[in-house]
Amino acid sequence: MENKKLVINPAWCKGCGICAAFCPKEVLAIVHEKVQLINEADCIKCGLCELRCPDYAIYIEKEGE
Ligand code: SF4
Ligand code: SF4
Repeated sequence: MENKKLVINPAWCKGCGICAAFCPKEVLAIVHEKVQLINEADCIKCGLCELRCPDYAIYIEKEGE
């Protein structure tokens, strides 16, 4: 888990809020029509946000690969 990183691409985010709605840890919120990490420390890197985003604007990146 420690070598995974949650990445947001604001250019692709349309602020639909699907990711925030499905996040089990309330890590995400929509601010000014873009998703923001409001509680990054609680992210468990489950990948649900990546799975649900229709625009590939949020994803988990493995570092060091
Ligand atoms: S990876 Fe899981 S816990 Fe982290 S922001 Fe996405 S849905 Fe929330
Ligand atoms: S689901 Fe995707 S497009 Fe919608 S708010 Fe989240 S990151 Fe943005």
